[in-house]
Amino acid sequence: MTQRAKIAIIGAGIGGLTAAIALLRRGFDVTVFEQAPVLAEVGAGLQLSANATRVLDAIGVLDAVVAVSSQLDGKEIRLWNTGQTWKLFDLGTESVERYGFPYVTLHRADLHNILIDQVRALAPDAIVLNSKLVELAQDSTGVDLSFENGSSARADLVIGADGVHSTVRQHLFGAGPAHFMGIVAWRGVIPAERLPARLVRQVGSNWVGPGGHIVHYPLRGGELMNISSVVERKDWQVESWSFAGTNAEYHADYPGWHEDIQTYIEAIPQPFKWALMGRPPMTEWTRGRITLLGDACHPMLPFLAQGAAMAIEDGLILARALEANSSFPDAFQAYEAARIERTTKVVNGAADNATRFHNPALAHAEGAAAYVDREWQPDLVRQRYEWLFRYDATAIQV
Ligand SMILES: Cc1cc2nc3c(=O)[nH]c(=O)nc-3n(C[C@H](O)[C@H](O)[C@H](O)COP(=O)(O)OP(=O)(O)OC[C@H]3O[C@@H](n4cnc5c(N)ncnc54)[C@H](O)[C@@H]3O)c2cc1C
Repeated sequence: MTQRAKIAIIGAGIGGLTAAIALLRRGFDVTVFEQAPVLAEVGAGLQLSANATRVLDAIGVLDAVVAVSSQLDGKEIRLWNTGQTWKLFDLGTESVERYGFPYVTLHRADLHNILIDQVRALAPDAIVLNSKLVELAQDSTGVDLSFENGSSARADLVIGADGVHSTVRQHLFGAGPAHFMGIVAWRGVIPAERLPARLVRQVGSNWVGPGGHIVHYPLRGGELMNISSVVERKDWQVESWSFAGTNAEYHADYPGWHEDIQTYIEAIPQPFKWALMGRPPMTEWTRGRITLLGDACHPMLPFLAQGAAMAIEDGLILARALEANSSFPDAFQAYEAARIERTTKVVNGAADNATRFHNPALAHAEGAAAYVDREWQPDLVRQRYEWLFRYDATAIQV
């Protein structure tokens, strides 16, 4: 592809910004159109495994990311009522030794700010705010974009990085099926001083129980604790990250759970809740001059902590494909060939974890311990994670 190609990216989320940096570093002319009037991320944490931090290194932001991250000593499974604990795997130096790159947890806003700064360092005016895409039309030489604010633009190629409710996907492939999973999620970020010191550990914990699970891990070196959890519940179906709930309602979703869980829930300054929607994986992402990346084409349940990681991998591989191929149809084909199988496996793997984490076998102490011993045997855990963490987006054939 000629490096002079004008590429419009719709959406300045984690995937769109990663793609922008990778393309700008290869000399492409990139504009990112973002609907929000100001760039701001929701208050929530993110775990990034070695497959993602490897990409952040390749686009030149890993040092900045590590500086604002926590590096966990390890991960553990805990039983919802007794608190019995199983070590899942070591992280810290082990992730670097095994995969060459760290496993980090960080605040979404910190990652977002680093990516924005890097885009602007490469092209100061590349991000255009207050630009909600409402229509697009392609012809034989380019794509016309129309925005809600009345402005328009033309590009040679368009990347829809506009998230789970993607306008670009809808334009290319129609609305697509989404079904309520019967699962409600909660999230909150807790300042460490609101918790007893013993509850602020450099460990990622996953409490599993019948009908729900709860994950917590530190952010900003332990200044904050991130908590996110889900519960099987049918009465709430709003798919928005920013709907405020109450601590009382949060407690009511976890009756009988361990006192540490009740302490975390009580300490959340403002909990948020939303409904989880499932969508079958797509088998194609491209039409002509327009393609998709990230949640726009493979939204997933958050049970493998890989949604942002997949958007990050997509961004680099799409840029590499556009650089390596002499025409855009070949580049988009190579991108899809490199990505659809892997992201489909991740979408399905995340859905499998719903039944594993919430299994009815966890209800009674004896059966529960046997169930955890069986499901989290070291070789099964390796099977579930090794292929994910080892993937090298900098070298995969495009
Ligand atoms: C509870 C929870 C926990 C998670 N934890 C993890 C984790 O630990 N690790 C991990 O890897 N992933 C995690 N994820 C998944 C991750 O958050 C997403 O997969 C990731 O944010 C997707 O990035 P994206 O860039 O594709 O989309 P988004 O981050 O949604 O960005 C889309 C952008 O497009 C903009 N936009 C939308 N429509 C338009 C339009 N019409 N015009 C212009 N702009 C538009 C939006 O404003 C937004 O800025 C989690 C998700 C949830 C729900």
